[in-house]
Amino acid sequence: VQKNLIPTWRDEAACLGDLSNLFFPAGETGQHAVQAEQAKAVCARCPVLYTCLKAALDGNESGVWGGMTDRERHNLKNKTTRAQYATVADLRELLEVTLPPCANCGQHRKEKADGMCASCVTESKNAEKVAA
Ligand code: SF4
Ligand SMILES: [Zn+2]
Repeated sequence: VQKNLIPTWRDEAACLGDLSNLFFPAGETGQHAVQAEQAKAVCARCPVLYTCLKAALDGNESGVWGGMTDRERHNLKNKTTRAQYATVADLRELLEVTLPPCANCGQHRKEKADGMCASCVTESKNAEKVAA
């Protein structure tokens, strides 16, 4: 059996066959940030998102994988232990239950109020002050 005939999670990837550099933004700001958001939008409808994200976390991959940029995966690692994403199911629980995404920015941060992360709460309070 040829190795490349064995089906893997990659065969179900929403980014399968993407030959653009969409998933590999060369930076984090401006156009690169826009590009990362476009890549993440593809991930958002990907059936193998958590499997992909787990592979990227384990393999220290670069680029947008599993709906997260390098920096976002790095931040996730910093605030979790490896045991929290030991399996794909653990990872899913971590991101959907333990650290659900902020309702405003989508980041998986610990501190939350009204469904928003602490940074977004601070930002919206500052915006209110400016408006008042
Ligand atoms: S989660 Fe994103 S990067 Fe990973 S396989 Fe799916 S579309 Fe590709
Ligand atoms: Zn937020």
